Amino acid sequence: MKLVNYVVGPLSTNSYVIYDEVTMDAIVIDPGSNELVPKCRELIGKGLKFSKIIATHGHVDHVAGVKSLREITGAKFMLHKSDIEIMDISLDWGWELGYNLSLEDLSPDYVYEGDEVVSLGDLEIKIIHTPGHTPGSIVLYIPSLKIAFTGDTLFRESVGRTDLMGGSWPALKESIRRLANTFNSETIIYPGHGPSSTLGYELRNNRFVKHILRGG
Ligand SMILES: [Zn+2]
Ligand SMILES: [Zn+2]
Repeated sequence: MKLVNYVVGPLSTNSYVIYDEVTMDAIVIDPGSNELVPKCRELIGKGLKFSKIIATHGHVDHVAGVKSLREITGAKFMLHKSDIEIMDISLDWGWELGYNLSLEDLSPDYVYEGDEVVSLGDLEIKIIHTPGHTPGSIVLYIPSLKIAFTGDTLFRESVGRTDLMGGSWPALKESIRRLANTFNSETIIYPGHGPSSTLGYELRNNRFVKHILRGG
């Protein structure tokens, strides 16, 4: 599997493209801006076939590029059911944050309802429901490669804020505990903002994670 990271938009969102080098099946994770359009066109020119656009949650900085990317790739947009309303509301903030958005036509082609498994070539990607930052936040976990895309649930040395609409600190704590029990210490974490990390690093250096796992 190949991974490409683009930092896009006014909030410096990490958008990721992952693809299977044999089948050329590709997925976009968190398309945070239309800046991705020329980049994805280039990848399509190299033979990539985008089948899915997956948002880790519905906040505007993670879905702002969905409409244009769906048009050029024909890929299916997938979002957790519990974030559809959050997405609609957060698109209204987009204007203030400087996003150049078309508000229509962001309805998902597929909604997750709980944990699920999706495939990329021969790879199995687990969709883990991790509410807290938003009610429909998810983490994409690829056990065979020991990597996870954690959206705004878990960052290097921080965790997602829970003061926005639909946020819940008790739910976030439960989700962090679940991730800590699911990953092993070498699991690489690719968050929605900022640098990558590993679970082991976070267990040692992330004061929020340490507090939560101590039962706080
Ligand atoms: Zn967010
Ligand atoms: Zn974000």
